[in-house]
Amino acid sequence: MSSEEKRRDLEGRYGSTGAVHEEEAVEIGGIDVSGHWNRMYDERVIDSYNSEMIDKVTQLDGGESLDYCYQCAQCIGVCPVDQAGGDYGPRKIYRRTELGIDFFESPDLWLCTTCQNCVRVCPKEVDMVDIAPAVREEAVLEGEAPDELEDMFGNVFQYGNPQGESAKKRAKWTRNVDVDVPILPRMDDPEPVEYLWYVGDFWSYHPRGIDAAGAMAVILDALEVDYAIMGQEEKCDGDSQRLAGEPGLFEMLAEDNAEAMAKYEFDRIMVSGPHALNAFRNEYGDVVDDWDYETLHYTQVLAPLMDQVEWETELDYRVTFHDPCYLGRHNGEYEAPREMLRSIPGVELVEMPRNREDGYCCGGGGGGMWLDGFADEYQDERLSDNRMREAANTDSDVLAVCCPYEVSRFEDSVKQVGVDMEVKDIVELVQEALGAA
Ligand code: SF4
Ligand code: SF4
Repeated sequence: MSSEEKRRDLEGRYGSTGAVHEEEAVEIGGIDVSGHWNRMYDERVIDSYNSEMIDKVTQLDGGESLDYCYQCAQCIGVCPVDQAGGDYGPRKIYRRTELGIDFFESPDLWLCTTCQNCVRVCPKEVDMVDIAPAVREEAVLEGEAPDELEDMFGNVFQYGNPQGESAKKRAKWTRNVDVDVPILPRMDDPEPVEYLWYVGDFWSYHPRGIDAAGAMAVILDALEVDYAIMGQEEKCDGDSQRLAGEPGLFEMLAEDNAEAMAKYEFDRIMVSGPHALNAFRNEYGDVVDDWDYETLHYTQVLAPLMDQVEWETELDYRVTFHDPCYLGRHNGEYEAPREMLRSIPGVELVEMPRNREDGYCCGGGGGGMWLDGFADEYQDERLSDNRMREAANTDSDVLAVCCPYEVSRFEDSVKQVGVDMEVKDIVELVQEALGAA
């Protein structure tokens, strides 16, 4: 059967694919294009999709850009969730939504870590870092958030931290450090300081975070940095809660932190973590009147001071470094942590294939820190496990990190993946080379 006969046979059974027209005898530039060689379909109306679900997203403040997607798929190759087997990325979310799947009720809504890698490569400026929180906010209001997030929101609201710990214990870690840590609310008449060190939840309460906080205190003391902390007056920065769909809670925390900070005099804020950096630099100004504090990540404060360190010990580590999404892609800092690592005697820094702008996400951002159990159902592996395998392939002894979420995430992955590596915050490596570990 000729192709023409096949087509007519199929049309006879399934109906026409649309009106066609063809000219019987046509010659173009000496070439015979008669009959089916010049066949053209008439314009057809595509009516197999309806826009109801897409409209539901794009009518939200922040949801608009989903509609810009033209399905080029650039985003899929860089999405860490897709790379961990999650069948994910903005292109797929657009397509599923177009086919009638309600993004508000889909598990897809909670898998995005807001890592921003898709935003970096998207030619149409589809912005998942705006879209996901906007839709999540509606889902949270409807009581549709995963239980783990609800519990975390409740803890942050009640106690000012996701762990549900008492605010009075926020500076308890300072008791086990061999140097004095100045705590502003405990001083009668505090002097102005150069840095207000915002310690953050994980460095205040998590057992491995406390190690890093102690290391930082030792380094600040050794370098005679003029600083103080807010102790029990400090609360969660709120950025992960905002991105997980609780902007009201974020605003409350921003106001509380700003009110506490306003009591003290300092030149700038130093933060332990990239999420606080993002909150203070890019978000607090939208909700707090006259918020104009300069904020630096600790690596940005310490990197220029590394030539003043009197090193005691030469380490013997091959080290690879994980770029935190909220320090790198979101806030443009790639060099300060590397400068710190290169300055430590005996550290050989090697890069993983996915580094800097294309750094892979640990899975902790955008509320992911509390959603490992939830995500487990929809991904082949945790993002941190995927990253840990990449780190191990560099034959390094240590995976160095500088985000308070990461030490515990990657230490779990060391066990899960079964690799022989240590995970250390950069300040722990500096402390070790100071001979003070
Ligand atoms: S890169 Fe942007 S335009 Fe291309 S498929 Fe992804 S979201 Fe759509
Ligand atoms: S922000 Fe990151 S996790 Fe979310 S869709 Fe984009 S690439 Fe994937």
